[in-house]
Amino acid sequence: MIVHQAAFGGRRPLLKGNLHCHTTRSDGLPSPETAMLQYASMHYDFLALTDHRIYNYRSYAPETGMVVVPGMELDFSLPGPGCHVIHLLSVGPEEEKGNGFRQDQKFETMEGATAEEAIPLVKQIREAGNLPIFCHPEWSGNTAEEIMALPDISLMEIWNTGCVQENGLDNRAAYWDEVLCSGRKMYGIATDDGHQLWQNGQGFIRVRAERTPSSILEALRRGAFYASCGPEIYDFYMEDGKAVIICSPVSVIRFRHFRVPYVDLHGKGLRGHMMVPVEGTNYIRAEVEDENGRRAWTNPIFLDEVQDTETEP
Ligand SMILES: [Zn+2]
Ligand SMILES: [Zn+2]
Repeated sequence: MIVHQAAFGGRRPLLKGNLHCHTTRSDGLPSPETAMLQYASMHYDFLALTDHRIYNYRSYAPETGMVVVPGMELDFSLPGPGCHVIHLLSVGPEEEKGNGFRQDQKFETMEGATAEEAIPLVKQIREAGNLPIFCHPEWSGNTAEEIMALPDISLMEIWNTGCVQENGLDNRAAYWDEVLCSGRKMYGIATDDGHQLWQNGQGFIRVRAERTPSSILEALRRGAFYASCGPEIYDFYMEDGKAVIICSPVSVIRFRHFRVPYVDLHGKGLRGHMMVPVEGTNYIRAEVEDENGRRAWTNPIFLDEVQDTETEP
């Protein structure tokens, strides 16, 4: 019996989009219209204009047909020295589908002594019908414990183009396996977080959804997506105790779970690989790398869910 990771299977299209972008509405250089036109020219299906502390629903280039996922970026300061913060994206559905935030609603920076003190901020995002996403943990000087201190978050950035280009950080799914190994169900997203045009168009997600914000949101909640900087993943599933990935031609395929040796396959034009998860691990995920070093990541298959499915009559 085959159990597919939620991104694979079903008839819905696999949309391409970026959930983290800055414009002149906060500290970004391009206007919202220019950013939208740029992403539309790269054939994106959706974009969230997540300027700092100001909410956006508006499409600034409706003629493109690109879906604007409502959203913003909020921040919470922790004690220094150096940069020590929590940044959260808040992405939500259409206003008429229960989104509690308003167009151009403004927010303040908050602060606290520990990450736990940011729990009310997460609650505020959730109560407005939005999904919180934990941003660029390495750039923010976070530890895995700080991510785990916020219990109602199930999405985190595992690639952030801006941080990669400016600081060489947030490019290797840092902390993700540590969080997953703790038993937390956490999905990984790639974003651009571009503040300038040349930073846009590198980290994206492919989401199994209809072309509406609420359908995209529902897919994000279920992990029905994968993250990429280029390579395509066609399937990721468990069959008879083996994990299997099928992808576009790549040079490296790697299965990951925490605290056991990883299995790497290196070669030319690799299109798939399989592995039996090690006894005792609670999840398995896969990542691939093409000949230009561009990566893609599946979301994890949680093995308890596979067992539940397999024991069903
Ligand atoms: Zn940020
Ligand atoms: Zn940002």
